[in-house]
Amino acid sequence: MNRKSLLVILSFCLLLSYTGSDLNGKEPKRNKKPVNIIFFIGDGMGPAEVSAAMAVSDNTFVIQSWPFSGFSKTSSSDNYVTDSAAAGTAMACGVKTKNGMIGTSPDSTAVESIMEIAKRNGLSTGLVSTSAITHATPASFVAHNTGRGNYEDIAEDFLKGTIDVFIGGGSDHFNKRKDGEDLTRKLESQGYEVVYTITGMQGSKSPKLAGLLAPEHMDRANDTRKGMLEQMTEKAIEVLKKNKKGFILMVEGSQIDFAGHAKNIEWLVSEVIDMDNAVAKAYEFAKKDGNTLVVVTADHETGGLTLPGGNLKNRTVVANFGSTGHTATMVPIFSYGPGAANFSGIHENTFFFNEFVNLLQLNK
Ligand code: MG
Ligand code: ZN
Repeated sequence: MNRKSLLVILSFCLLLSYTGSDLNGKEPKRNKKPVNIIFFIGDGMGPAEVSAAMAVSDNTFVIQSWPFSGFSKTSSSDNYVTDSAAAGTAMACGVKTKNGMIGTSPDSTAVESIMEIAKRNGLSTGLVSTSAITHATPASFVAHNTGRGNYEDIAEDFLKGTIDVFIGGGSDHFNKRKDGEDLTRKLESQGYEVVYTITGMQGSKSPKLAGLLAPEHMDRANDTRKGMLEQMTEKAIEVLKKNKKGFILMVEGSQIDFAGHAKNIEWLVSEVIDMDNAVAKAYEFAKKDGNTLVVVTADHETGGLTLPGGNLKNRTVVANFGSTGHTATMVPIFSYGPGAANFSGIHENTFFFNEFVNLLQLNK
């Protein structure tokens, strides 16, 4: 055998072993199941919102390095254009319901959420949001109510022990209630540490934690809230990861939607970047852990945003809002970790619930 043919054979073997490791190696471990899931919902974060934030950001978004992406169809049971209650319920409970309904089917029957099922199966659970924690998106994961505006009733659902760690705004719905009750006392009697500041949150050693960091919604990402969502996300992971059976955590970038309603592109972009910084913390954990699936998506688009112009050198975009409300455009999905491949393609928003139940091998 001459040297040349040996080289050819060698490179062929290398090619074979490369192909082999590509199929069985790092990313395409298609049969591996995650132990933990971290689920990010950018409220109102359509494809244009992500595009604008990527163009304006100083940093490359972590989701750009992830291997899988897809789309989610967001319509509710009674409307082509969903609200956050119906969309949250679809993702949390796997059921399409009417706009305005939280954790119930269209006939008002309560439907178990992924958090309730995970809890029953021995996993730990967490909710993080920059809105009031009783607002539609986080509420869909813990509460059952035919009216998303019943914040004080929704707050009572946090007393059922479904969620180990919840951090967001909304303290008024717990301790400044019309019925005069102070639910924070009840939470404390159930073993929760209740904290009202970021430093209080960071100092907590409790396995059950209620962070009520604002009377209603938290401040804006481009104002005094800057950087808090990533700290809240880190804290939730720190507490939940102690459960060897696993955990599921939902983190919401709540105010992308608020900025879309307000047609405020500076605020909007700061909120998307703020959530990506929190995603980066989850990604850091998932990379080290190796058993954590991270999924990033949205409940719907808000503002009918298009980008008819911009300048990548100056990192500016021209924003055109076509609506002050929600739109029916599909929203993006980005995924990383064991099971991530399942999220590529086009899915109904109920798919997340079903896929999470399957991947975590939960008994319903
Ligand atoms: Mg929301
Ligand atoms: Zn909205």
